This record gives sequence, structure tokens and C-alpha cells, in this order.
Amino acid sequence: MSKLLTDLIEALRCLPGVGGKSAQRMAFHLLERDRERGLRLSQVLGQAMRDIGNCSRCRNFSETPVCTLCASSSRDRQVLCVVESPTELAAIEQATGYRGQYFVLLGRLSPLDGLGPQELGLDLLADRLAEGEIEEMIIATNPTVEGEATAHYLAQLARAAGVRPTRLAHGVPLGGELEYVDRGTLAHAFGSRQALD
Ligand SMILES: [Zn+2]
Repeated sequence: MSKLLTDLIEALRCLPGVGGKSAQRMAFHLLERDRERGLRLSQVLGQAMRDIGNCSRCRNFSETPVCTLCASSSRDRQVLCVVESPTELAAIEQATGYRGQYFVLLGRLSPLDGLGPQELGLDLLADRLAEGEIEEMIIATNPTVEGEATAHYLAQLARAAGVRPTRLAHGVPLGGELEYVDRGTLAHAFGSRQALD
């Protein structure tokens, strides 16, 4: 097999769930039948990898310094929902009628993996809370051991800033990652969130 083809197959394996066989099938498919869209894919992929960064306010993916959601004047500025990843932000946007702001941790507290408050941008979050606009902080970290520890830490951070922390209601299966929960369950858990004390 040509060096370039081997390289392409190897590169495709970086995608989640794609092993050697699938990667080969994708590479052959693009070369045999879909070169035009293959070229389009390479252009968009390159541009996205270069130009998509993180919003300076919420840390979600953004190609502008402040994302469209943070810049929107129609979002409620008194509620802030904290999630672990952009995937969960998207799930909440799609499943619920939530109209507040977000903060994306890009992880969860995990000292063994070197993920502490600084890596999760908690200084940025503290600055945000100190602005004084936010009244409720919805903690939507996953119900895993690390997610719960993170929630506990976040609740303290909120209280220190005079912000009321709330947590998604149970109904989201224990140990289930938010992104895999069906829309109805997520909408219900979101709607019946509870105060943390
Ligand atoms: Zn933002």
C-alpha cells in the first residue's frame, strides 16, 4: 500500500470508535467515489482545527473571542449552568428550554489526571460570579464520583460569591453521562433541579 494511503488510514483512526478496518473503508470510499467531498472535508477540518478556539467567558468552542451565546442579549444573565463539556452544553440546549448562560469546565476535578481548579478555569468562573449579575448557578456535572466532587467544590464557590447553587434532580441514572441520557429525562432533571445545602 502506498505511503500516503497508509498515512491517511492511520490519521482517520484518531476518530472515536474508528479502528483499522473502518479507517481503511473510509479512505477507500473517499478515493474511489467521493474525492470532491473528501477535499471539502480536508478544507473544513483544517480550518476548524485552526480557527475554533474557546470563548473567553464560558470556554465553549468559539471562533470569535466571545461566543454567540455569551454575546446574545436574549439570554437570561441571572442563571449560569456549569457543565463538564461542550457535548453536554449541546445536549441541554437541545433537550430543555433553558435560556440562561453557561460555563464549560472542559473536564472535572481529577487530581490524579492533573485536573485541578486552574485547569477547569475556576478562577475565570469566580470572576464571573463576582460580577454580581448571576443569582443561580445550576451545577450539571455528571453523577459520577468525580462529577459529584466537582459539584461539591462548585457549590462552595457559588456560596462564597453569594450565588445560590442548584443541582439537577435525580432521574439521571447514576454513573450515566449526561450526553447519553434521553431528552425527556434530561429535560425533567433540568426542570426539577434542587437547591444544594
Ligand atoms: Zn461563551
